[in-house]
Amino acid sequence: MSFNFTNKEQLKEFQDKKLKETVNHVYNGSDFYKSRFKNFGVAPDDIKGIEDLSKLPFTTADDLKEQYPFPLLSVLLSDVVRIHSSSGTTGKRKIFAYTRQDIEDWKEMFARCYRMAGVGKGSRVQIMVGYGLWTAGVGFQAGCEGAGALAIPTGPGNLDMQRQFLIDLQPDVICCTSSMALLLAEEINRMGLRDKINIQTVIQGSERCSDAMRLNIIAQIGAKHLHDITGLTELYGPGAGIDCEYHTGIHYWSDYYILEIINPETGLHVKEGEIGEMVVTTLRKQAAPLIRYRTRDLTRLVSGECPCGSIYPRHDRILGRSDDMIKYRGVNIYPGQIDEILSQIQGISSEYAIYLDRQDAKDFMKIKVERNGDDLSYNDKNISNNIKSIIKHKVFVSADIEIVDYGSLNRSERKTKRIFDMRD
Ligand code: ZN
Repeated sequence: MSFNFTNKEQLKEFQDKKLKETVNHVYNGSDFYKSRFKNFGVAPDDIKGIEDLSKLPFTTADDLKEQYPFPLLSVLLSDVVRIHSSSGTTGKRKIFAYTRQDIEDWKEMFARCYRMAGVGKGSRVQIMVGYGLWTAGVGFQAGCEGAGALAIPTGPGNLDMQRQFLIDLQPDVICCTSSMALLLAEEINRMGLRDKINIQTVIQGSERCSDAMRLNIIAQIGAKHLHDITGLTELYGPGAGIDCEYHTGIHYWSDYYILEIINPETGLHVKEGEIGEMVVTTLRKQAAPLIRYRTRDLTRLVSGECPCGSIYPRHDRILGRSDDMIKYRGVNIYPGQIDEILSQIQGISSEYAIYLDRQDAKDFMKIKVERNGDDLSYNDKNISNNIKSIIKHKVFVSADIEIVDYGSLNRSERKTKRIFDMRD
């Protein structure tokens, strides 16, 4: 079911109503949530609206693990029509159940993402993300068809085929990870195919991407817009939000879920605009609803109105994960901080890798950075000294910098590994 909200008051009324429904639904449908609420001393009647959110307990990734294979299930298994699973770097995969209505809701959210990126009837969308257990492929495709566009489900990898379809079918939109977008962009540039293809819009998900990498992709492909789509398997999958044509932050669908930003150490709300961990509470999910689920993704809310006029609020791009944090000589470093610094340096490409090692009980960091392909006017020594001193100044650590040839660092069709920790 699709709703049209003309103002924020209507939206708020809807959120309050749906939160109360969700709290009742999980309390009555899930033994896990019922006992969690009881232990926390909260009952469904205590929740009158979204102001009462912090009366509810958090849900964490550990809770999902303990309830494998059907975590947070709040409906009868016979009402479940599909499952998806996320990669899960350690131990068992996370499996999530969907009812027929959940699938419809996800499709509607995703179609809204495409529409916000100007994609609809008449658009041709080459979908280069993984199909199967992942939420990516099927999500991008359902949303694309929901928006009335033509889906070309090529899946990831296979550059030869991708290139062929880009030329023969003339898609104006591609969907992929930023690593794949970069590979493709370099290939298009190297083979001089810019005039033979028609990509106007790149929609990318599931991976943090620096400003330098973004500009590099757009320039080499010749696209007009690059949009970031957000989402996680716990929250249906990708399609939870996207930036509009003004690229002022990610508009997220606050009629489907509530977003809170907390300090990961204290669990308390941060001040508006401060970086913290995203916590999500779903408003319509039936099979596996989330109550204050701690995503470990870091971002901040963007205040004010967007020039596009959308009533949907915005958060910044995902700035990293609380688990990606590198502990180095007593300092906590997020890879996003290194990205941000390197993006402002002239004469280097967007690609880098961080190596951590330990000698005589002391930690060492080396960052390999690629020289910019066609620009030989910069001196390696100057560049590395510059990077070194900015990192020292902004992140308060010392690192060795090595400038390497353009294209010599590993490229990936999925997610690029950038941190190599050899300290154990
Ligand atoms: Zn906007």
